[in-house]
Amino acid sequence: MQIQQLEFLKHLIRFNRRVYLDHNATTPVSNRVRRKMGQVLRYHYGNPSSFYGIGRKSAALVKQARQYVAEAVHADPQEIYFTGCATESNNAVLKSLSDHFYPKKKKIVSTPLEHPSVMHTLAYLETQGVMVEYCPVDGQGRVLLAELEKRVDEDTFLVCCMLANNETGVIQDLKAVTKIASQQSALVLADCVQALGKIPVDLHAWGVDYASFSAHKLYGPKGIGALYVKQGSPFSPLLHGGHQESGMRAGTESLHNIVGFGAACQDVDRLLLHAKKTQALKQLLIQRLKEIKPDCAINSPETGCLPNTISVTFPGVDNAGLMAILDYHGIAVSAGSACSTGEDAPSHVLRAIGLSEQAARQTIRVSLGWHTSEGDIRYTTKVIQDYIEGRSLLVNMITPAQLNESILFDEHTFILDVRPPDDRRKHQGLPNAHEVAPLAVEKYLGQLPRDKQILVYCPGGGLSLMVSYYLKAKGFKHVINLRGGLDAWRQRRSDLYLKYAGQNVTVLQPDKVE
Ligand code: PLP
Repeated sequence: MQIQQLEFLKHLIRFNRRVYLDHNATTPVSNRVRRKMGQVLRYHYGNPSSFYGIGRKSAALVKQARQYVAEAVHADPQEIYFTGCATESNNAVLKSLSDHFYPKKKKIVSTPLEHPSVMHTLAYLETQGVMVEYCPVDGQGRVLLAELEKRVDEDTFLVCCMLANNETGVIQDLKAVTKIASQQSALVLADCVQALGKIPVDLHAWGVDYASFSAHKLYGPKGIGALYVKQGSPFSPLLHGGHQESGMRAGTESLHNIVGFGAACQDVDRLLLHAKKTQALKQLLIQRLKEIKPDCAINSPETGCLPNTISVTFPGVDNAGLMAILDYHGIAVSAGSACSTGEDAPSHVLRAIGLSEQAARQTIRVSLGWHTSEGDIRYTTKVIQDYIEGRSLLVNMITPAQLNESILFDEHTFILDVRPPDDRRKHQGLPNAHEVAPLAVEKYLGQLPRDKQILVYCPGGGLSLMVSYYLKAKGFKHVINLRGGLDAWRQRRSDLYLKYAGQNVTVLQPDKVE
């Protein structure tokens, strides 16, 4: 009986293979980086601004890390400033330059492919009067340089163009962009976050004025970014306070993160050498996908693209279902950028390169990394093939936006709450829910209706997905998983949450065992 009671746990363990193919979202911290950071956390607690010995040692570590970052991007150390993240770097440049130039000059020219940290900041600046023009791109996402030239005029103070796109991997010709901008004395901000460690970055050769970087995209820690400001370029800090970073970014330095970033940059040459192997695996992946579904469309350009990134559209295949089955098999890929997974809108990047809304919803992004193996590619493509050829169990997904009153109060829907007890203590759940012990679902099967659709939810959407597949394997026909879980729904539908949470909840008792 004991063994039978553990059935769901065994089901979980059976799928413990992990294949991480979302390196454009973030990367695991490398062992070397972790070791260096550990040493800092253990021994180097001095404040880099303090004048005494341990403070001076910390300051020396910051200086050394700055040197490593500068070498990796071909800049001078005094042009590199540490920030909290690349989002901060992008915000700082866009806001600082708008303050500096507006209203004498009014215009920023950008591309429709930028990361939300740029897009949303530009939208904010528009509310402050700044004019923003987006330069069209071709079907592969390359900025049309002739169109750029038309848009950059004497009223333009900044051209903002990312080096490599996070969703498709397309690489822009920054040297050409800088040339066009300089004809009108406009400055250039290049978001180089996705490029560093994947392709060579040479800021001095390209002549850009500002560039942003983030350690967690190259096996460094999260929560540390860098900003390059070409010597002599205007800049005023976003944060005011102490004199850290030569007065360009106030706040006590996050020493362990800075050292981690420096250590990650020391590995850039090795990463670039490894990129050849990654490129070969990417080709294998493309080849296998084309064999599996000949009409799939590869949105990433064949040349001028990051070696690790592939965006692929499978006509007729909804990406939510595909990603769910991949997740179930321990494979992590994403639909667009990780920053927008909580949103329901299809990717603005895919729309900008001409995909229809429907095609964008049939697209996934796979981004390979240092540890990706041929076995990972073969395993992943096998799971995709089984799904596309109809050999996988099918769990439907519902997004937080779709979960409305008519579903919550539908008599043909049975709501199953598989949240852990501490989450139940913190937050009230969906109305009309039935609570079960989350890791012992097998003990309640007798009470779950086979003639209704079962809507399963947990805090984040992961455990409920496992339960959903388990129920499918047990013969339940209509099972729906709440994507993003209760946390996402509480955010998205706070109106419904406030109105109905916790109403009419039933706590189920385990089935009686004969
Ligand atoms: N720019 C690009 C192209 C990115 O891909 C990201 C992260 O996904 C960022 C900026 C933001 O970086 P951070 O996470 O350091 O704020």
